[in-house]
Amino acid sequence: MNILQTFDLKKTYRRTHALDGVNITIQKGDIYGFIGKNGAGKTTLIRLITGVAEPTSGSFSLFGERTPLANIRARKRIAAVVESPALHMNLSAYENLKLQCILLGIAQPHQKVIEEVLTKVDLLSLLVEKKKKAKNFSLGMRQRLGIAMALISNPEFLILDEPNNGLDPEGIRDMRELLLRLNKEDGLTILVSSHILSELAKLATRYGFIDKGKVLRELSASELNRESRQATVLSLSKPLLSEAGLKEAGLKDYELSGSTLKIFGTQSTNKYLAVLAQADIEVMNITKEADDLETFFMSMIGGK
Ligand code: ATP
Repeated sequence: MNILQTFDLKKTYRRTHALDGVNITIQKGDIYGFIGKNGAGKTTLIRLITGVAEPTSGSFSLFGERTPLANIRARKRIAAVVESPALHMNLSAYENLKLQCILLGIAQPHQKVIEEVLTKVDLLSLLVEKKKKAKNFSLGMRQRLGIAMALISNPEFLILDEPNNGLDPEGIRDMRELLLRLNKEDGLTILVSSHILSELAKLATRYGFIDKGKVLRELSASELNRESRQATVLSLSKPLLSEAGLKEAGLKDYELSGSTLKIFGTQSTNKYLAVLAQADIEVMNITKEADDLETFFMSMIGGK
């Protein structure tokens, strides 16, 4: 089922074509990485979908419904964190969430809902530190609290605009684990924008590349793996003398050089482990290798 589909969506500000005929599709269960440089049009698309701005022309469907009125109805099933999360810095996590419950008209008691969302974003400890104000949280905690605020309404589609902005590597990892968990355990469909492809690479199942308001390409994670030459490199205990077994087992895109076997893309381990075992070869070490994803990104958008 398509959660979001856009039809030739355009948004023009005076002479700037922020979106210039965008067609993308996000399916149920996707973690859709929306990739583009600063100013490419990512936030503009998110603003249109969330109803903060109106398209100049074109339209979009949400949960399969395309009319503007249906879009409004469907927005109840969506939550978004656009730019920085709308937190009250002088309030604690609990108070921020309670306020959100009241604003959204969530039925009492709120405590249970709040505990649930704090657990989901791994911030339950903040219920103990009840007085700690949001302004004293780390940026990563603030971002996660922002997501907890979005989760209060129990959305099916979560939209995040540059959630990694300003985060350190640990914060980026926490965010990645959180989004993967929400997708897997709660079946949440997620749209996440970024200008850094490698940050989304361990997360997204599909990608849309946008530049100057135009979507250049949509591709799946496995297509990205293939095209950016993601490889698994195996160090073998001794050289594999014949490739015949690998070919017979259906291994396709690979390079064998003495005791190093490089397998491109994602291929089943069944296609080579048995062959190696039969030749009495052990795998001593496994590493992942890739062409620099940012190089791939820049070549995609025609930059240097
Ligand atoms: P960033 O990561 O920098 O936010 P982005 O990909 O989200 O980049 P947008 O914010 O969507 O990009 O901006 C796309 C283009 O539209 C830019 O050239 C921007 O200057 C322009 N733009 C966006 N909003 C407005 C506005 N309200 N008025 C005029 N121009 C705008």
